[in-house]
Amino acid sequence: MAEQDCVFCKIVNQEIPSYTIYEDEAVKAFLDLSQVTPGHVLLVPKKHVANIFEYDSDLAQTVFARVPKVARAIKAAFPDSTGMNICMNNGKIAYQSVFHSHIHLVPRYNEEDGFSMHWADN
Ligand code: 5GP
Repeated sequence: MAEQDCVFCKIVNQEIPSYTIYEDEAVKAFLDLSQVTPGHVLLVPKKHVANIFEYDSDLAQTVFARVPKVARAIKAAFPDSTGMNICMNNGKIAYQSVFHSHIHLVPRYNEEDGFSMHWADN
């Protein structure tokens, strides 16, 4: 069930556009609006859950099992990348800003690609 004011529910339901790189019955993966590095993707469950604390094991198995497939799709589309950060912010204190659970997949290009994780800045 979609949450009325949830931006990622609207993306899942195609009410607002996104650049989708993978989709099936359970998940959608699309480019992040603010590309931390080229190819930065968000993988979201289609079911609205706020964060990891609302997953049951079936949903966890479904969503996390898709991560390698999406990672390989990004790697294929951005062959210059040589690594990838995969992370999930859960709760405001952990820098979550959109409260529809999502996994960040951030391709890395070289040691000087300028990207640092939020928590490494503190
Ligand atoms: P968080 O801070 O919750 O871990 O990450 C939320 C992410 O959602 C941010 O990286 C932000 O750029 C992205 N985002 C927010 N609104 C939109 C949107 O409307 N479209 C897309 N594609 N990404 C969004």
